[in-house]
Amino acid sequence: MTKCPKCGFENPPEAKYCLNCGYRLVQEERERFEGSGLLLLTSGIMLIVTFLFNALLRVFPAMAIIYVVFGITSIYSGYRLYRGTRSLADVIVASVSIIFGFAGTLFLYLYGLAFKGLVTPDWIIYLVAAVKLFADRKKLANAVKRG
Ligand SMILES: [Zn+2]
Repeated sequence: MTKCPKCGFENPPEAKYCLNCGYRLVQEERERFEGSGLLLLTSGIMLIVTFLFNALLRVFPAMAIIYVVFGITSIYSGYRLYRGTRSLADVIVASVSIIFGFAGTLFLYLYGLAFKGLVTPDWIIYLVAAVKLFADRKKLANAVKRG
């Protein structure tokens, strides 16, 4: 059941608009994971920019493949979370992006400091995104269950 936030009417889970007052219910769903979505998007874009800059300088280009892979998965899942997802696959991709993005960027951050490439503290963003996503875990589980 989806309770209408405007009038309190109990709508069937597949209802896009409240059957009683016509309030748009789908929009409410979409506003849920903007925080972690934006963090992942930001981090993904930063990773790609860092990669391009380092590739230009020819600094650890082989290692920097981590930037590209998790840059792309972060942007993808960040966008999906931001828009409001109901797919379990999206939640898994987002979690994997956060875990490996954190580990990868922390490693490259420490490794990169020894070289003279551009290092960004992306791991801080991933850490915040992980905390946000963890705080939203019940809402995410409900969204996936309903989807
Ligand atoms: Zn209503």
